[in-house]
Amino acid sequence: MPVSFPLPPGSTIGIIGGGQLGRMLAMAAARLGFDVAVMDPEPDAPAARVAAKAIVTAYDDPEGLAALASAADVITFEFENVPARSLQALAAAGARVAPGDRALAIAQDRLAEKTFLNEAGAPTVGFAAVDSADDLRAALQSLGAPLLLKTRRGGYDGKGQTWVHSARDADSAWTELGAQPCIAETPADFRREVAVVAARGRSGEIALYPLTESHHEAGILRRARAPAAAPPRVLAEAERIVATILSALDYVGVIGVEMFERDDGKLLVNEFAPRVHNTGHWTLDGCEVDQFEQHIRAIAGWPLGPTDALAQVEMTNLLGDEAEGWLRLAQEPETRIWLYGKGEPRPGRKMGHVNRLTKINR
Ligand code: AMP
Repeated sequence: MPVSFPLPPGSTIGIIGGGQLGRMLAMAAARLGFDVAVMDPEPDAPAARVAAKAIVTAYDDPEGLAALASAADVITFEFENVPARSLQALAAAGARVAPGDRALAIAQDRLAEKTFLNEAGAPTVGFAAVDSADDLRAALQSLGAPLLLKTRRGGYDGKGQTWVHSARDADSAWTELGAQPCIAETPADFRREVAVVAARGRSGEIALYPLTESHHEAGILRRARAPAAAPPRVLAEAERIVATILSALDYVGVIGVEMFERDDGKLLVNEFAPRVHNTGHWTLDGCEVDQFEQHIRAIAGWPLGPTDALAQVEMTNLLGDEAEGWLRLAQEPETRIWLYGKGEPRPGRKMGHVNRLTKINR
């Protein structure tokens, strides 16, 4: 039976990836009456443990993808390292996949991403492709020093990047990142980092959550505060940028767009994630409809929900053994705890988060 939208409750949503984002998506889907099938190589993945069906296999396993396609009416993904080819194969076999493989493929390659952003009209830092130490020296000549050298693919949480201060560092920086295709970026020179989580529905409607201020430590998101105060022209520009990206990608679902705000209020896009985003976790307790429900609504062809903030929220990630403080956290009033059901609390691993609410509009 061909799928028609809006997808009725009782249908099945397929999620590729079984981490915490998949888990919170699955919980939101269940609340709307959907079943969830999760595909992940780990049998006890956080999302698999709250889903109706788990397909335990690699993300590029043709049999696993076929099983997912036959179980699910709509398929989505919860992290960027899913091979874009897997989404292409699903779509070619007639499965309804959202967001599409193009958004994923662009987001997986920092050079393709910045090129796309500039072409779409979203400003970024200056950048150059670097495929050798000589390219890096040429980039230092044309863009100036210092430059931030990043691997084009596979970097996350601040990994896979190094500052290059002069041509003398070019060979060592190139080797340090593994002599692989890279991008060199000019310094963003920002006063703060902000993010916008937004959704686009199947008929092209767009809903933005309030601006979020994000704080990283050692490359990992530590805290996010929202709604973040900003001058109206900055908010309007953030909205313009995000709407531009969503429309240029003909996007369906939730997206996270990370930006630098400079002293003069100018916004530069650092990157976008074609999925629900850590900077949107505050919406779970701070908004009428949170980002996870919003994503399910969008891909299921339901109307998008209201995104207004009901409270001022500070979201803090619980990294490594910090989640072991759950009992103390449970005693704090106005603190909501989200634990991901992960086993080993390795240092820096995202084990959960808390949302601390203030100025609640009751
Ligand atoms: P990314 O891996 O691109 O998400 O970058 C991780 C973090 O590095 C960002 O959150 C920023 O704090 C910092 N960063 C990334 N790109 C730049 C840049 N061009 N200039 C200055 N800081 C940057």
